[in-house]
Formats: sequence, structure tokens, C-alpha cells
Amino acid sequence: ILEIKDLHKEYGGNTVLKSINAGVEEGDVIAILGPSGTGKSTLLRELNMLEHPTSGAVIFDGQDITQANEAQLDKIRQELGMVFQSFNLFPNMTVLDNVKIALVKVKGVADSEATKTAEKFLAKVGVADKANVYPASLSGGQQQRVAIARALAMNPKIMLFDEPTSALDPEMVGEVLKTMRELALEGMTMLVVTHEMGFAREVASKIWFMSDGEMTAYNTPNNFFENSDSERVQSFLAKML
Ligand code: ATP
Ligand code: MG
Repeated sequence: ILEIKDLHKEYGGNTVLKSINAGVEEGDVIAILGPSGTGKSTLLRELNMLEHPTSGAVIFDGQDITQANEAQLDKIRQELGMVFQSFNLFPNMTVLDNVKIALVKVKGVADSEATKTAEKFLAKVGVADKANVYPASLSGGQQQRVAIARALAMNPKIMLFDEPTSALDPEMVGEVLKTMRELALEGMTMLVVTHEMGFAREVASKIWFMSDGEMTAYNTPNNFFENSDSERVQSFLAKML
């Protein structure tokens, strides 16, 4: 469903991604792991063109999206839903309107239909009772689940998560991971940058390990956690586990 071909990224003279090649198949749950500053967020942002690669191609559903124009990108970004570390909800809108807004404004869905869809996804992530309050009155975990509902409401083909639990108090992490685990079990294709090793080990079907702008793909978490003889992996795991 997604193919990354020889992707490079430079900022000024600084090479952040060096020739990334990888593929994502439908139903894959890929945990992207690696030390800080190794290009994980940059890679994720290049998959929906929030950041434009210096060279290389990203083939999504048969189309090289590095060549897409703005109108095409609007559509592509709906199909590649993204959830950030800092929930990015609109503070001046109710929870319900946060989930509805793109349905109405971007997809042109009728208001009553959008309300139904938004309510359905708020219920799915367990915050149906918060529909009419403002984000500020929610806990971090609830806000993040609203952000997930907002992305899901657009009916994405792939969900991209960039450290979705890193900004949360420890007691909120579990509820967000549970929501993500349920999505994975339903067969959603997901790419998740995370430092949650338990989630990576138990939920991911594949691991991508980034270090110094390079990426090594592992076909099973077991190959990564138990059988990798790479020194970089060993030293990363020694710090994380
Ligand atoms: P972390 O685990 O801390 O989130 P990361 O693996 O997500 O790190 P990136 O955010 O992708 O790493 O950053 C990779 C490198 O690119 C870093 O050296 C960073 O300083 C650099 N970088 C990222 N964004 C920019 C930018 N807009 N301009 C210049 N350099 C940038
Ligand atoms: Mg990052």
C-alpha cells in the first residue's frame, strides 16, 4: 500500500535521512524505534508530505505522492491520518466540532451526517460523554483519544502516530495504547513512532529501527528484540529496557 524508495532528506548541509527503502503492506503495524534525533519524525512527516524529501519517491496506492499537487495532497492527507505528540486540537471548538470540522469543510459531508460520524468515533475511543465540552477540560489521555477519533473520522487507509503517548502523564499512557491496540486488532494499517517497547513487542507486526538517518527493517519484533546482532540495536535496547 506504501512504498518508500531511496528517500533522502537534508536540512542545510545536514543529512537527516540517507537512502531509506521500505514497504508497508495492508494490515501492517510498524513500530518505528531508535534514538533521539535519528530522523523518525522526519520520515513520518515525509510520508504525507508535511515535509518534502530532498530526493526519492513515496508511492501510495500506486501514485508517487512526492509529485502530487496541493489539491491531491489534501486528499492524500485524509487517507494518511496523523496523530502527533501534542494533540493539536482546536481549543476554541468543542470536542464534537473538532472531529466534525474536516468532515464538513474538507470532505463536504452534510452537518447532520458529520455529527453522526463524529459521535460514532468518539464512542469508539471511549469519550462519547465529552462531545460538548472544550478540549481544555479533558485530560491529556482523553485529548489524545479525541485526536485519534478525528483522524479516524476521515476514513484513512493508514494511520501515522508520532510518539502519541510521550506527552502524557504515566497514568494516561495505558488508555491511549489500549485504543491503538484495538485499532491494530481491527486490521488498521499503522506506523507508530514510539518509545513504548511493550507496545512494539506485543502489538507491532514489524519493527523499523532508525539510527543516524539509516533504517533497518525487521520482519518480526522477535527478530529485533531477541535476535538482532547489530551493536546499535543492542546499545539502544540496553538503554530502553
Ligand atoms: P526524537 O526521538 O527526539 O523525536 P527523531 O528521531 O524524531 O527524534 P527528527 O525530529 O526526525 O528526529 O530529527 C532528525 C534530525 O533532523 C535532527 O538532527 C534534527 O535536528 C533535524 N531537523 C529536524 N527538523 C528540522 C528542521 N525543520 N530544520 C533543520 N533541522 C531539522
Ligand atoms: Mg521525533
